[in-house]
Amino acid sequence: MTDILVLGGGYTGVTAALRAARRTRRTGGRVTLVNASPRFTERLRLHRTAAGERLADHALTDVLAGGGVQFVLGRVAAIDPERHEVRLDPSPGHEARTLRYDKLVYALGTVTDVTVPGVAEHAYVYDDHTATVRLSRHLDTLTRGTVVVAGGGLTGVESATELAEARPHLHVVLLTRGRPGAMMGAGARAYLDRALQRLGVEVRAGVEITKVLPDGVELAGGELIHSDATLWTTGTRGLPQAAASGLAVDERGRIVVDAALRSVSHPDVYAVGDAAAITQSFGILHGTCQGGIPSALAAADSLAATLRGRRARPFRFGFFHQPVSLGRKDAVIQFTRPDDSPRRWYLTGRAAIAYKETVSDSPFTLFRLLKRGLVPVRAFGLTAGRS
Ligand SMILES: Cc1cc2nc3c(=O)[nH]c(=O)nc-3n(C[C@H](O)[C@H](O)[C@H](O)COP(=O)(O)OP(=O)(O)OC[C@H]3O[C@@H](n4cnc5c(N)ncnc54)[C@H](O)[C@@H]3O)c2cc1C
Repeated sequence: MTDILVLGGGYTGVTAALRAARRTRRTGGRVTLVNASPRFTERLRLHRTAAGERLADHALTDVLAGGGVQFVLGRVAAIDPERHEVRLDPSPGHEARTLRYDKLVYALGTVTDVTVPGVAEHAYVYDDHTATVRLSRHLDTLTRGTVVVAGGGLTGVESATELAEARPHLHVVLLTRGRPGAMMGAGARAYLDRALQRLGVEVRAGVEITKVLPDGVELAGGELIHSDATLWTTGTRGLPQAAASGLAVDERGRIVVDAALRSVSHPDVYAVGDAAAITQSFGILHGTCQGGIPSALAAADSLAATLRGRRARPFRFGFFHQPVSLGRKDAVIQFTRPDDSPRRWYLTGRAAIAYKETVSDSPFTLFRLLKRGLVPVRAFGLTAGRS
């Protein structure tokens, strides 16, 4: 038997585990997935949780059922890539334990970058479901007041519009260095600006936040903006466990991988999704499900190919779209070139809402197909490995 251990039960960990189980079942693969929570967190819908929506609960045991993957509940504390061991912290009802592996797939995602003073102590973040529910509960206690959303990237825009729509009694302020949705084309950006305006979101562009305080934020230059809740969406980093274990990481703590998605320092470790620094011809991929899921398929295929003594194919990926919800009643989809630069086309309104919902649901469809072995070897024309 070959013990394949997958760390992280998010979109990419589940994808890699189901794919690896299917692709190695005839070559003796035994796949185990470890996650800190028994729940499958739909990270790309967390802005809706923040706004107070009660989304479906998905147990990881259900998500993995019938896929040939064993689930272990536990928080990864440390990895010893020399001894091929992973140490898990004790969790409620579970003792600390050590798991051994032959091949490791690292899919622990990222955490919020808390370099700016006060973020760790005073800002709300999207690190996990519990942290997001904490924000939602706090907002429930406010009958009026101001919510500051820090960051004008797509997560910041989705959050500001969702919060403004769901909680119209609160004043939402979006603070951003550049323009909101700066990566989109002019038409989609203008549409997005109008949506922010319609929902009453106050946009302050061109600002730099230097400190988060218990009751506000401080800008470069000293201006104070009052806030009853500050949501921090600007920037993430890899978990400290990766660097601490001696795996080669980039300046953002993500595991540096080769074309077959193996750690450049420890080739028995594969890294996928947000946690990996994956180089393509146009640069290092930024964290999205869009790129993360294909990386997980490719890593599992690469691993399966290696176990069969074959050469893994290099991972190739090109972006296709930037889907952005603007509350529950509007959305805009920017179509892109493979390097994520905007094309001329974009979709708005009802068609965009339906498109965004389909995209957000698509991981569950993929999981079902993976269990049945129905995802082709060259899924999306991107994955490595051979049948
Ligand atoms: C509000 C929001 C909206 C987004 N919208 C989109 C979108 O529209 N399209 C898109 O492509 N992307 C979107 N993204 C980005 C997308 O969600 C991420 O790229 C994606 O979740 C990455 O998947 P992952 O599996 O690498 O990491 P994650 O989904 O973060 O999964 C990591 C898993 O590891 C587990 N874990 C973490 N630490 C430990 C530990 N120490 N021990 C054990 N388990 C641990 C976590 O519990 C989690 O299950 C959005 C993100 C946010 C926050």
